[in-house]
Amino acid sequence: VELAEEYKDQEREEEDEDEWREELVEERLEHALVHGIDTFVEEDVEEARQKADRPLDVIEGPLMGGMDVVGDLFGSGQMFLPQVVKSARAMKKAVSYLLPYMQEKADEEDGEKAKILLATVKGDVHDIGKNIVNVVLGCNDYDVVDMGVMTPADEIIDKAKEKDVDIVGLSGLITPSLDEMIHVAREMERVEMDVPLLIGGATTSRRHTAVKIAPEYSSPVIHVLDASRVTGVTGKLLNPVEKREFVEENKQSQERDRRLHEGDDGRPLLDYEKARANRLELDFQAQDMPDPEFLGRETMPDVSLETLVDYIDWTPFFIAWEMNYPYPQILEHDEYGEAARDLFDDAREMLEQAIREDRLDAHAVCGVFPANRKGDDIVVYEDDSREEVRERLCTLRQQRERHADDDPNLALSDFVAPADSGCDDYVGAFAVTAGEGLEAWRKRFQDQDDDYNEIMVTALADRLAEAFAEYLHEWMREQLGYGDDLTSEELVDEAYRGIRPAPGYPACPDHTEKAKLWDLIDVEEETGIELTESYAMHPGASVSGWYFSHPRSRYFNLGGIGRDQVESYAERKDMTPREVEKWLMQNLDYEPKQQ
Ligand code: SAH
Repeated sequence: VELAEEYKDQEREEEDEDEWREELVEERLEHALVHGIDTFVEEDVEEARQKADRPLDVIEGPLMGGMDVVGDLFGSGQMFLPQVVKSARAMKKAVSYLLPYMQEKADEEDGEKAKILLATVKGDVHDIGKNIVNVVLGCNDYDVVDMGVMTPADEIIDKAKEKDVDIVGLSGLITPSLDEMIHVAREMERVEMDVPLLIGGATTSRRHTAVKIAPEYSSPVIHVLDASRVTGVTGKLLNPVEKREFVEENKQSQERDRRLHEGDDGRPLLDYEKARANRLELDFQAQDMPDPEFLGRETMPDVSLETLVDYIDWTPFFIAWEMNYPYPQILEHDEYGEAARDLFDDAREMLEQAIREDRLDAHAVCGVFPANRKGDDIVVYEDDSREEVRERLCTLRQQRERHADDDPNLALSDFVAPADSGCDDYVGAFAVTAGEGLEAWRKRFQDQDDDYNEIMVTALADRLAEAFAEYLHEWMREQLGYGDDLTSEELVDEAYRGIRPAPGYPACPDHTEKAKLWDLIDVEEETGIELTESYAMHPGASVSGWYFSHPRSRYFNLGGIGRDQVESYAERKDMTPREVEKWLMQNLDYEPKQQ
Protein backbone atom coordinates (compact mmCIF):
# COMPACT_ATOMS: atom_id res chain seq x y z
CA VAL A 1 0.00 0.00 0.00
CA GLU A 2 2.83 2.35 0.89
CA LEU A 3 4.50 1.75 -2.42
CA ALA A 4 1.29 2.36 -4.33
CA GLU A 5 0.78 5.66 -2.53
CA GLU A 6 4.17 6.83 -3.66
CA TYR A 7 3.48 6.06 -7.30
CA LYS A 8 0.07 7.62 -7.17
CA ASP A 9 1.55 10.96 -6.11
CA GLN A 10 4.24 10.78 -8.69
CA GLU A 11 1.80 10.18 -11.49
CA ARG A 12 -0.38 13.02 -10.44
CA GLU A 13 2.53 15.36 -10.19
CA GLU A 14 3.76 14.40 -13.62
CA GLU A 15 0.33 15.01 -15.08
CA ASP A 16 0.15 18.40 -13.41
CA GLU A 17 3.57 19.21 -14.64
CA ASP A 18 2.68 18.51 -18.23
CA GLU A 19 -0.55 20.40 -18.04
CA TRP A 20 0.77 23.71 -16.78
CA ARG A 21 3.51 23.71 -19.40
CA GLU A 22 0.76 24.03 -22.04
CA GLU A 23 -0.49 27.37 -20.72
CA LEU A 24 0.36 30.89 -21.93
CA VAL A 25 3.77 32.12 -20.87
CA GLU A 26 2.32 34.63 -18.38
CA GLU A 27 0.42 31.84 -16.67
CA ARG A 28 3.40 29.54 -16.71
CA LEU A 29 5.45 32.19 -14.92
CA GLU A 30 2.76 32.69 -12.33
CA HIS A 31 2.50 28.94 -11.85
CA ALA A 32 6.29 28.67 -11.45
CA LEU A 33 6.33 31.39 -8.81
CA VAL A 34 3.34 30.14 -6.86
CA HIS A 35 4.75 26.60 -6.83
CA GLY A 36 8.34 27.67 -6.37
CA ILE A 37 9.50 25.72 -9.41
CA ASP A 38 12.64 27.26 -10.91
CA THR A 39 13.39 24.62 -13.54
CA PHE A 40 11.83 26.41 -16.52
CA VAL A 41 12.09 29.98 -15.31
CA GLU A 42 14.80 31.07 -17.68
CA GLU A 43 13.23 29.75 -20.87
CA ASP A 44 9.84 31.17 -19.87
CA VAL A 45 11.28 34.55 -19.00
CA GLU A 46 13.12 34.63 -22.31
CA GLU A 47 9.87 33.93 -24.13
CA ALA A 48 8.09 36.63 -22.16
CA ARG A 49 10.90 39.08 -22.81
CA GLN A 50 10.64 38.58 -26.56
CA LYS A 51 6.91 39.13 -26.39
CA ALA A 52 7.11 42.27 -24.26
CA ASP A 53 8.03 45.82 -25.29
CA ARG A 54 10.54 46.24 -22.49
CA PRO A 55 12.17 43.67 -20.15
CA LEU A 56 10.85 45.71 -17.25
CA ASP A 57 7.31 44.89 -18.39
CA VAL A 58 7.99 41.22 -17.65
CA ILE A 59 8.93 42.06 -14.09
CA GLU A 60 6.09 44.48 -13.53
CA GLY A 61 3.62 42.25 -15.33
CA PRO A 62 3.65 38.47 -14.86
CA LEU A 63 6.44 38.28 -12.28
CA MET A 64 5.06 40.86 -9.87
CA GLY A 65 1.60 39.47 -10.56
CA GLY A 66 2.78 36.01 -9.54
CA MET A 67 4.43 37.34 -6.40
CA ASP A 68 1.20 39.17 -5.52
CA VAL A 69 -0.62 35.86 -5.63
CA VAL A 70 2.10 34.37 -3.40
CA GLY A 71 1.75 37.28 -1.00
CA ASP A 72 -2.01 36.86 -0.81
CA LEU A 73 -1.83 33.11 -0.26
CA PHE A 74 0.83 33.58 2.44
CA GLY A 75 -1.15 36.37 4.07
CA SER A 76 -4.30 34.26 4.18
CA GLY A 77 -2.51 31.21 5.59
CA GLN A 78 -2.81 29.08 2.46
CA MET A 79 0.91 29.15 1.78
CA PHE A 80 3.73 28.68 4.29
CA LEU A 81 7.20 30.07 4.68
CA PRO A 82 9.22 27.33 3.01
CA GLN A 83 7.03 27.66 -0.07
CA VAL A 84 7.36 31.44 -0.08
CA VAL A 85 11.13 31.19 0.18
CA LYS A 86 11.12 28.84 -2.78
CA SER A 87 8.93 31.25 -4.75
CA ALA A 88 11.37 34.01 -3.94
CA ARG A 89 14.17 31.86 -5.27
CA ALA A 90 12.35 31.43 -8.59
CA MET A 91 11.65 35.17 -8.71
CA LYS A 92 15.30 36.01 -8.10
CA LYS A 93 16.35 33.68 -10.86
CA ALA A 94 13.90 35.35 -13.26
CA VAL A 95 15.02 38.84 -12.33
CA SER A 96 18.70 38.06 -12.60
CA TYR A 97 18.08 36.60 -16.03
CA LEU A 98 16.47 39.85 -17.13
CA LEU A 99 18.95 42.17 -15.48
CA PRO A 100 21.57 42.23 -18.26
CA TYR A 101 18.85 43.38 -20.68
CA MET A 102 17.85 46.31 -18.55
CA GLN A 103 20.80 47.60 -16.58
CA GLU A 104 19.96 51.29 -16.78
CA LYS A 105 16.33 50.64 -16.09
CA ALA A 106 17.16 48.68 -12.99
CA ASP A 107 19.26 51.48 -11.60
CA GLU A 108 16.42 53.87 -12.20
CA GLU A 109 14.02 51.52 -10.48
CA ASP A 110 16.28 51.09 -7.52
CA GLY A 111 15.78 54.63 -6.31
CA GLU A 112 12.05 54.12 -5.93
CA LYS A 113 12.10 51.09 -3.72
CA ALA A 114 11.87 51.48 0.02
CA LYS A 115 15.12 50.58 1.74
CA ILE A 116 15.33 48.49 4.89
CA LEU A 117 18.49 47.77 6.82
CA LEU A 118 18.64 44.43 8.65
CA ALA A 119 21.28 43.33 11.14
CA THR A 120 21.84 40.72 13.80
CA VAL A 121 23.23 42.75 16.68
CA LYS A 122 26.74 42.67 18.14
CA GLY A 123 27.59 39.52 20.08
CA ASP A 124 24.99 37.39 18.33
CA VAL A 125 25.54 34.99 15.48
CA HIS A 126 22.04 33.74 14.78
CA ASP A 127 20.54 34.70 11.46
CA ILE A 128 17.89 32.24 10.33
CA GLY A 129 15.10 34.61 11.34
CA LYS A 130 16.79 37.66 9.87
CA ASN A 131 17.42 35.88 6.59
CA ILE A 132 13.81 34.78 6.39
CA VAL A 133 12.68 38.38 6.93
CA ASN A 134 15.14 39.44 4.23
CA VAL A 135 13.56 37.03 1.76
CA VAL A 136 10.02 38.06 2.64
CA LEU A 137 10.89 41.74 2.18
CA GLY A 138 12.73 40.98 -1.05
CA CYS A 139 9.64 39.26 -2.48
CA ASN A 140 7.64 42.33 -1.64
CA ASP A 141 9.88 44.57 -3.66
CA TYR A 142 11.84 46.17 -0.86
CA ASP A 143 15.50 46.92 -1.21
CA VAL A 144 17.17 45.18 1.72
CA VAL A 145 20.56 46.18 3.09
CA ASP A 146 21.62 43.11 5.06
CA MET A 147 24.58 43.65 7.39
CA GLY A 148 24.87 40.05 8.50
CA VAL A 149 25.62 38.97 12.06
CA MET A 150 27.57 40.48 14.99
CA THR A 151 26.96 44.03 13.84
CA PRO A 152 28.06 46.84 16.19
CA ALA A 153 25.73 49.81 16.74
CA ASP A 154 28.03 52.35 15.09
CA GLU A 155 28.25 50.29 11.91
CA ILE A 156 24.47 49.99 11.78
CA ILE A 157 24.10 53.73 12.14
CA ASP A 158 26.81 54.59 9.61
CA LYS A 159 25.33 52.25 7.04
CA ALA A 160 21.78 53.48 7.67
CA LYS A 161 22.92 57.01 6.98
CA GLU A 162 25.08 56.14 4.03
CA LYS A 163 22.28 54.22 2.32
CA ASP A 164 19.60 56.60 3.52
CA VAL A 165 17.40 53.70 4.59
CA ASP A 166 13.73 54.09 5.48
CA ILE A 167 13.61 51.55 8.28
CA VAL A 168 16.12 49.73 10.50
CA GLY A 169 15.40 46.17 11.68
CA LEU A 170 17.36 44.48 14.48
CA SER A 171 17.47 40.75 15.09
CA GLY A 172 18.90 38.56 17.82
CA LEU A 173 18.32 35.26 19.55
CA ILE A 174 20.11 35.16 22.90
CA THR A 175 19.10 37.28 25.89
CA PRO A 176 22.23 39.53 25.96
CA SER A 177 21.11 40.71 22.53
CA LEU A 178 18.11 42.35 24.18
CA ASP A 179 20.54 44.60 25.97
CA GLU A 180 22.46 45.29 22.82
CA MET A 181 19.21 46.33 21.12
CA ILE A 182 18.59 48.85 23.88
CA HIS A 183 22.07 50.16 23.24
CA VAL A 184 21.43 50.51 19.50
CA ALA A 185 18.18 52.39 20.20
CA ARG A 186 20.04 54.76 22.52
CA GLU A 187 22.74 55.37 19.97
CA MET A 188 20.18 56.06 17.25
CA GLU A 189 18.59 58.60 19.56
CA ARG A 190 21.94 60.17 20.37
CA VAL A 191 22.78 60.77 16.71
CA GLU A 192 19.23 62.02 16.14
CA MET A 193 18.07 59.43 13.67
CA ASP A 194 14.35 59.32 13.05
CA VAL A 195 13.64 56.21 10.98
CA PRO A 196 11.39 53.55 12.52
CA LEU A 197 13.14 50.73 14.36
CA LEU A 198 11.87 47.15 14.09
CA ILE A 199 12.73 44.54 16.71
CA GLY A 200 12.55 40.79 16.11
CA GLY A 201 13.97 37.44 17.24
CA ALA A 202 13.14 34.58 19.57
CA THR A 203 13.80 36.22 22.96
CA THR A 204 12.40 39.61 21.97
CA SER A 205 8.84 40.37 22.97
CA ARG A 206 6.20 43.03 22.64
CA ARG A 207 6.57 43.76 26.29
CA HIS A 208 10.35 44.00 26.41
CA THR A 209 10.22 46.26 23.37
CA ALA A 210 7.66 48.50 25.05
CA VAL A 211 9.29 48.59 28.47
CA LYS A 212 12.99 48.65 27.65
CA ILE A 213 13.64 49.65 24.05
CA ALA A 214 10.90 52.06 22.97
CA PRO A 215 11.58 54.56 25.79
CA GLU A 216 15.16 54.97 24.51
CA TYR A 217 14.22 56.19 21.02
CA SER A 218 11.75 58.90 20.18
CA SER A 219 10.78 57.56 16.76
CA PRO A 220 8.58 54.47 16.40
CA VAL A 221 9.96 51.20 17.80
CA ILE A 222 7.90 48.22 16.73
CA HIS A 223 8.11 44.61 17.79
CA VAL A 224 7.55 42.24 14.88
CA LEU A 225 6.41 38.84 16.07
CA ASP A 226 7.50 36.83 13.06
CA ALA A 227 8.40 37.09 9.39
CA SER A 228 4.80 36.79 8.24
CA ARG A 229 4.02 40.11 9.95
CA VAL A 230 6.89 42.15 8.64
CA THR A 231 5.38 43.51 5.44
CA GLY A 232 2.19 44.38 7.28
CA VAL A 233 4.29 46.62 9.51
CA THR A 234 6.63 48.08 6.87
CA GLY A 235 3.72 48.69 4.51
CA LYS A 236 1.95 50.82 7.08
CA LEU A 237 5.10 52.65 8.13
CA LEU A 238 5.83 53.67 4.56
CA ASN A 239 2.33 54.79 3.72
CA PRO A 240 1.96 58.39 4.91
CA VAL A 241 -1.79 58.01 5.42
CA GLU A 242 -1.68 54.79 7.40
CA LYS A 243 1.53 55.58 9.22
CA ARG A 244 0.06 58.10 11.64
CA GLU A 245 -2.68 55.87 12.91
CA PHE A 246 -0.42 52.83 13.08
CA VAL A 247 2.32 54.63 14.99
CA GLU A 248 -0.24 56.08 17.37
CA GLU A 249 -1.79 52.67 18.02
CA ASN A 250 1.64 51.17 18.59
CA LYS A 251 2.47 53.93 21.04
CA GLN A 252 -0.71 53.42 23.01
CA SER A 253 -0.31 49.68 23.17
CA GLN A 254 3.27 50.17 24.39
CA GLU A 255 2.04 52.52 27.09
CA ARG A 256 -0.46 49.85 28.17
CA ASP A 257 2.31 47.27 28.23
CA ARG A 258 4.42 49.54 30.43
CA ARG A 259 1.58 50.09 32.87
CA LEU A 260 0.92 46.35 33.07
CA HIS A 261 4.60 45.78 33.68
CA GLU A 262 4.61 48.12 36.64
CA GLY A 263 1.79 46.34 38.38
CA ASP A 264 3.60 43.05 37.69
CA ASP A 265 3.02 39.48 38.37
CA GLY A 266 1.13 39.02 41.65
CA ARG A 267 3.42 36.96 43.80
CA PRO A 268 6.05 38.90 45.75
CA LEU A 269 9.70 37.96 46.16
CA LEU A 270 10.97 36.29 49.29
CA ASP A 271 14.10 37.59 50.94
CA TYR A 272 17.04 35.67 49.53
CA GLU A 273 17.68 34.15 52.97
CA LYS A 274 14.12 32.86 53.17
CA ALA A 275 14.30 31.47 49.65
CA ARG A 276 17.49 29.63 50.59
CA ALA A 277 15.81 28.18 53.63
CA ASN A 278 13.09 26.85 51.32
CA ARG A 279 15.55 24.94 49.16
CA LEU A 280 14.81 21.48 47.77
CA GLU A 281 16.17 19.00 50.31
CA LEU A 282 16.90 15.82 48.42
CA ASP A 283 17.76 12.59 50.07
CA PHE A 284 21.35 11.87 49.00
CA GLN A 285 22.56 8.31 49.44
CA ALA A 286 26.10 7.20 48.68
CA GLN A 287 24.86 4.20 46.68
CA ASP A 288 22.82 6.45 44.37
CA MET A 289 25.79 8.58 43.32
CA PRO A 290 27.08 8.28 39.75
CA ASP A 291 29.93 5.85 39.27
CA PRO A 292 31.99 7.46 36.47
CA GLU A 293 34.20 5.46 34.12
CA PHE A 294 36.59 8.39 33.80
CA LEU A 295 37.33 11.73 35.41
CA GLY A 296 38.39 14.97 33.81
CA ARG A 297 38.16 15.97 30.19
CA GLU A 298 37.45 13.52 27.40
CA THR A 299 37.50 14.32 23.69
CA MET A 300 34.89 12.40 21.78
CA PRO A 301 36.00 10.60 18.66
CA ASP A 302 34.28 12.40 15.77
CA VAL A 303 30.84 10.99 15.16
CA SER A 304 29.46 10.53 11.67
CA LEU A 305 26.54 12.65 10.56
CA GLU A 306 24.69 9.47 9.66
CA THR A 307 24.70 8.38 13.28
CA LEU A 308 23.37 11.75 14.37
CA VAL A 309 20.47 11.85 11.92
CA ASP A 310 18.54 9.30 14.01
CA TYR A 311 18.83 11.57 17.04
CA ILE A 312 17.25 14.61 15.40
CA ASP A 313 14.25 16.18 17.07
CA TRP A 314 12.32 17.47 14.05
CA THR A 315 9.69 19.63 15.75
CA PRO A 316 12.03 22.63 16.24
CA PHE A 317 13.04 22.32 12.58
CA PHE A 318 9.48 23.06 11.52
CA ILE A 319 9.29 25.87 14.06
CA ALA A 320 12.40 27.44 12.50
CA TRP A 321 10.35 27.60 9.29
CA GLU A 322 7.46 29.14 11.23
CA MET A 323 5.36 26.00 11.07
CA ASN A 324 4.49 25.46 14.66
CA TYR A 325 3.07 21.97 15.06
CA PRO A 326 4.60 18.78 16.48
CA TYR A 327 6.42 16.28 14.29
CA PRO A 328 5.44 13.72 13.00
CA GLN A 329 1.77 14.75 13.20
CA ILE A 330 2.55 17.89 11.18
CA LEU A 331 3.14 15.71 8.12
CA GLU A 332 -0.53 14.73 8.15
CA HIS A 333 -1.90 18.10 9.28
CA ASP A 334 -4.86 19.42 7.27
CA GLU A 335 -3.29 22.74 6.40
CA TYR A 336 0.44 22.33 6.99
CA GLY A 337 0.64 18.73 5.74
CA GLU A 338 1.60 19.22 2.14
CA ALA A 339 4.10 22.02 2.77
CA ALA A 340 5.53 20.09 5.71
CA ARG A 341 6.03 16.93 3.66
CA ASP A 342 7.78 18.82 0.88
CA LEU A 343 10.00 20.60 3.38
CA PHE A 344 10.80 17.36 5.14
CA ASP A 345 11.68 15.63 1.83
CA ASP A 346 13.99 18.50 0.95
CA ALA A 347 15.58 18.32 4.39
CA ARG A 348 16.22 14.57 4.16
CA GLU A 349 17.68 14.99 0.72
CA MET A 350 19.96 17.77 1.95
CA LEU A 351 21.10 15.64 4.87
CA GLU A 352 22.01 12.88 2.44
CA GLN A 353 23.95 15.41 0.43
CA ALA A 354 25.75 16.60 3.56
CA ILE A 355 26.78 13.03 4.27
CA ARG A 356 27.70 12.19 0.69
CA GLU A 357 29.73 15.32 0.13
CA ASP A 358 31.10 15.41 3.66
CA ARG A 359 29.97 19.01 4.14
CA LEU A 360 29.83 19.28 7.93
CA ASP A 361 32.12 18.12 10.68
CA ALA A 362 30.87 17.54 14.18
CA HIS A 363 33.12 17.87 17.22
CA ALA A 364 32.53 17.39 20.89
CA VAL A 365 34.28 17.54 24.19
CA CYS A 366 33.01 16.62 27.61
CA GLY A 367 34.18 16.01 31.13
CA VAL A 368 33.22 14.60 34.51
CA PHE A 369 34.34 16.19 37.74
CA PRO A 370 34.05 15.43 41.46
CA ALA A 371 31.70 18.06 42.86
CA ASN A 372 29.66 18.99 45.90
CA ARG A 373 27.25 21.72 46.77
CA LYS A 374 28.38 24.53 49.05
CA GLY A 375 25.76 27.13 49.80
CA ASP A 376 24.19 27.97 46.46
CA ASP A 377 27.37 27.13 44.58
CA ILE A 378 28.74 23.91 43.22
CA VAL A 379 32.36 23.30 44.06
CA VAL A 380 34.29 21.38 41.42
CA TYR A 381 37.38 19.60 42.76
CA GLU A 382 40.71 18.94 41.12
CA ASP A 383 40.43 15.21 41.81
CA ASP A 384 38.57 12.63 43.81
CA SER A 385 40.47 13.40 47.01
CA ARG A 386 38.20 16.50 47.01
CA GLU A 387 40.82 18.63 48.70
CA GLU A 388 41.65 21.22 46.10
CA VAL A 389 38.95 23.33 44.51
CA ARG A 390 39.27 23.78 40.79
CA GLU A 391 36.19 25.85 40.01
CA ARG A 392 33.10 27.23 41.67
CA LEU A 393 29.90 27.14 39.63
CA CYS A 394 27.48 29.77 40.83
CA THR A 395 23.78 29.01 40.67
CA LEU A 396 20.80 31.27 41.09
CA ARG A 397 17.79 30.54 43.26
CA GLN A 398 14.13 31.19 42.57
CA GLN A 399 12.97 33.97 44.82
CA ARG A 400 9.33 34.33 43.96
CA GLU A 401 7.03 33.16 46.72
CA ARG A 402 5.85 29.65 45.93
CA HIS A 403 2.24 28.64 45.36
CA ALA A 404 2.24 25.90 47.98
CA ASP A 405 4.10 25.23 51.22
CA ASP A 406 5.83 22.13 49.95
CA ASP A 407 6.89 23.88 46.76
CA PRO A 408 10.62 24.65 47.01
CA ASN A 409 12.57 27.67 45.76
CA LEU A 410 14.89 25.85 43.38
CA ALA A 411 18.50 26.38 42.41
CA LEU A 412 20.43 23.94 40.21
CA SER A 413 22.84 23.36 43.09
CA ASP A 414 20.00 21.67 45.01
CA PHE A 415 20.47 18.67 42.71
CA VAL A 416 24.07 18.13 43.85
CA ALA A 417 24.95 16.42 47.15
CA PRO A 418 26.23 18.89 49.77
CA ALA A 419 29.81 18.64 50.95
CA ASP A 420 28.76 17.55 54.44
CA SER A 421 26.54 14.69 53.21
CA GLY A 422 29.44 12.29 52.84
CA CYS A 423 28.34 11.60 49.27
CA ASP A 424 30.87 11.76 46.44
CA ASP A 425 28.82 13.48 43.79
CA TYR A 426 29.88 14.49 40.28
CA VAL A 427 28.88 17.02 37.64
CA GLY A 428 29.61 16.83 33.94
CA ALA A 429 30.19 19.42 31.25
CA PHE A 430 29.92 19.24 27.47
CA ALA A 431 30.09 21.25 24.30
CA VAL A 432 29.26 20.05 20.80
CA THR A 433 29.18 21.66 17.39
CA ALA A 434 28.03 20.60 13.96
CA GLY A 435 28.96 23.94 12.46
CA GLU A 436 32.37 23.25 10.97
CA GLY A 437 32.07 23.59 7.19
CA LEU A 438 28.71 25.34 7.41
CA GLU A 439 29.98 28.76 6.37
CA ALA A 440 31.56 27.40 3.21
CA TRP A 441 28.44 25.43 2.38
CA ARG A 442 26.21 28.43 2.94
CA LYS A 443 28.46 30.51 0.76
CA ARG A 444 27.86 28.15 -2.18
CA PHE A 445 24.12 28.73 -1.91
CA GLN A 446 24.57 32.45 -1.40
CA ASP A 447 26.55 32.60 -4.61
CA GLN A 448 23.67 30.90 -6.40
CA ASP A 449 21.14 33.30 -4.88
CA ASP A 450 19.53 30.30 -3.25
CA ASP A 451 18.15 31.55 0.07
CA TYR A 452 15.99 28.47 0.43
CA ASN A 453 18.89 26.09 0.65
CA GLU A 454 21.05 28.51 2.62
CA ILE A 455 18.40 28.68 5.33
CA MET A 456 17.83 24.94 5.00
CA VAL A 457 21.44 23.97 5.71
CA THR A 458 21.69 26.44 8.59
CA ALA A 459 18.57 24.99 10.21
CA LEU A 460 19.86 21.46 9.61
CA ALA A 461 23.23 22.22 11.20
CA ASP A 462 21.34 23.47 14.29
CA ARG A 463 19.38 20.22 14.35
CA LEU A 464 22.53 18.14 14.04
CA ALA A 465 24.13 20.03 16.93
CA GLU A 466 21.13 19.33 19.16
CA ALA A 467 21.11 15.73 17.95
CA PHE A 468 24.77 15.47 18.89
CA ALA A 469 23.99 16.81 22.37
CA GLU A 470 21.36 14.08 22.73
CA TYR A 471 23.73 11.43 21.44
CA LEU A 472 26.52 12.54 23.75
CA HIS A 473 24.20 12.67 26.74
CA GLU A 474 23.18 9.07 26.07
CA TRP A 475 26.83 8.04 25.94
CA MET A 476 27.54 10.02 29.09
CA ARG A 477 24.76 8.32 31.07
CA GLU A 478 26.47 5.07 30.23
CA GLN A 479 29.81 6.47 31.46
CA LEU A 480 28.21 7.69 34.66
CA GLY A 481 26.88 4.25 35.45
CA TYR A 482 23.20 4.71 34.67
CA GLY A 483 22.94 3.96 30.98
CA ASP A 484 19.62 3.29 29.31
CA ASP A 485 18.26 2.11 26.01
CA LEU A 486 15.57 4.51 24.87
CA THR A 487 13.70 4.95 21.61
CA SER A 488 14.04 8.14 19.56
CA GLU A 489 10.67 9.32 20.88
CA GLU A 490 11.74 8.77 24.46
CA LEU A 491 14.97 10.67 23.81
CA VAL A 492 13.08 13.60 22.34
CA ASP A 493 10.86 13.57 25.43
CA GLU A 494 14.04 13.50 27.57
CA ALA A 495 12.60 10.51 29.45
CA TYR A 496 15.92 9.64 31.09
CA ARG A 497 17.67 10.18 34.39
CA GLY A 498 19.36 13.56 34.77
CA ILE A 499 19.38 16.84 32.87
CA ARG A 500 21.82 18.95 30.83
CA PRO A 501 20.99 22.57 31.67
CA ALA A 502 22.50 25.08 29.26
CA PRO A 503 23.85 28.42 30.54
CA GLY A 504 21.62 31.15 29.15
CA TYR A 505 18.46 29.04 29.49
CA PRO A 506 15.76 29.68 32.10
CA ALA A 507 17.21 27.71 35.05
CA CYS A 508 20.63 29.33 34.63
CA PRO A 509 20.17 32.53 32.62
CA ASP A 510 23.68 33.83 33.34
CA HIS A 511 25.54 33.37 30.05
CA THR A 512 28.87 34.31 31.65
CA GLU A 513 29.04 30.95 33.47
CA LYS A 514 29.93 29.53 30.05
CA ALA A 515 33.42 30.94 30.60
CA LYS A 516 33.96 28.35 33.38
CA LEU A 517 32.69 25.57 31.18
CA TRP A 518 35.07 26.64 28.40
CA ASP A 519 37.92 26.62 30.84
CA LEU A 520 37.13 23.31 32.54
CA ILE A 521 37.07 21.22 29.38
CA ASP A 522 39.09 23.40 26.97
CA VAL A 523 36.14 23.86 24.66
CA GLU A 524 37.76 26.23 22.22
CA GLU A 525 40.91 24.18 21.69
CA GLU A 526 39.03 20.91 21.46
CA THR A 527 36.09 21.90 19.27
CA GLY A 528 36.78 25.34 17.80
CA ILE A 529 33.67 26.85 19.40
CA GLU A 530 34.38 30.43 20.48
CA LEU A 531 32.41 32.71 22.77
CA THR A 532 31.46 36.17 21.52
CA GLU A 533 31.46 39.20 23.84
CA SER A 534 27.83 38.34 24.63
CA TYR A 535 28.82 34.72 25.34
CA ALA A 536 27.06 33.42 22.24
CA MET A 537 28.65 30.31 20.80
CA HIS A 538 30.29 30.76 17.44
CA PRO A 539 29.58 28.88 15.18
CA GLY A 540 25.93 29.10 16.07
CA ALA A 541 25.25 25.43 15.41
CA SER A 542 26.65 24.53 18.84
CA VAL A 543 25.25 23.38 22.17
CA SER A 544 26.85 23.33 25.60
CA GLY A 545 25.79 22.66 29.16
CA TRP A 546 26.25 20.85 32.44
CA TYR A 547 25.23 17.32 33.34
CA PHE A 548 23.34 16.66 36.55
CA SER A 549 22.64 13.11 37.63
CA HIS A 550 20.08 13.17 40.38
CA PRO A 551 16.87 11.41 39.27
CA ARG A 552 14.83 14.31 40.58
CA SER A 553 16.84 17.00 38.85
CA ARG A 554 14.70 18.92 36.39
CA TYR A 555 14.52 22.11 34.36
CA PHE A 556 12.78 25.10 35.83
CA ASN A 557 12.45 28.82 35.27
CA LEU A 558 14.44 31.06 37.60
CA GLY A 559 12.02 34.01 37.37
CA GLY A 560 12.54 37.29 39.18
CA ILE A 561 15.40 37.87 41.62
CA GLY A 562 16.01 40.65 44.13
CA ARG A 563 18.87 42.99 44.91
CA ASP A 564 19.91 40.86 47.91
CA GLN A 565 20.57 37.82 45.74
CA VAL A 566 22.32 39.93 43.11
CA GLU A 567 24.70 41.22 45.78
CA SER A 568 25.48 37.74 47.10
CA TYR A 569 25.89 36.37 43.58
CA ALA A 570 28.17 39.24 42.59
CA GLU A 571 30.41 38.59 45.55
CA ARG A 572 30.62 34.88 44.81
CA LYS A 573 31.41 35.58 41.16
CA ASP A 574 33.87 38.32 41.92
CA MET A 575 31.88 40.79 39.87
CA THR A 576 30.32 44.10 40.81
CA PRO A 577 26.55 44.05 41.41
CA ARG A 578 26.29 46.37 38.43
CA GLU A 579 27.94 43.83 36.15
CA VAL A 580 25.62 41.11 37.40
CA GLU A 581 22.66 43.39 36.79
CA LYS A 582 23.78 43.87 33.21
CA TRP A 583 23.92 40.13 32.53
CA LEU A 584 20.72 39.29 34.39
CA MET A 585 18.65 42.28 33.28
CA GLN A 586 15.77 40.01 32.25
CA ASN A 587 15.47 38.54 35.74
CA LEU A 588 15.78 41.64 37.89
CA ASP A 589 12.65 42.26 39.90
CA TYR A 590 13.69 45.84 40.58
CA GLU A 591 14.84 48.85 38.61
CA PRO A 592 18.63 48.92 38.74
CA LYS A 593 20.15 52.34 39.31
CA GLN A 594 20.80 54.10 35.99
CA GLN A 595 24.33 53.74 34.72
N1 SAH B 1 15.47 18.11 21.47
C1 SAH B 1 15.57 19.54 21.57
C2 SAH B 1 16.47 19.86 22.72
C3 SAH B 1 16.75 21.30 22.93
S1 SAH B 1 15.70 22.07 24.04
C4 SAH B 1 16.13 20.07 20.27
O1 SAH B 1 16.60 19.29 19.45
O2 SAH B 1 16.05 21.28 20.04
C5 SAH B 1 16.09 21.28 25.49
C6 SAH B 1 17.44 21.64 26.00
O3 SAH B 1 17.48 22.99 26.37
C7 SAH B 1 17.75 20.86 27.24
O4 SAH B 1 18.38 19.66 26.93
C8 SAH B 1 18.65 21.80 28.00
O5 SAH B 1 19.96 21.74 27.54
C9 SAH B 1 18.09 23.14 27.65
N2 SAH B 1 17.06 23.60 28.58
C10 SAH B 1 15.72 23.55 28.41
N3 SAH B 1 15.08 24.13 29.44
C11 SAH B 1 16.03 24.58 30.27
C12 SAH B 1 16.01 25.29 31.49
N4 SAH B 1 14.87 25.64 32.06
N5 SAH B 1 17.17 25.60 32.06
C13 SAH B 1 18.34 25.24 31.50
N6 SAH B 1 18.43 24.58 30.35
C14 SAH B 1 17.29 24.25 29.73
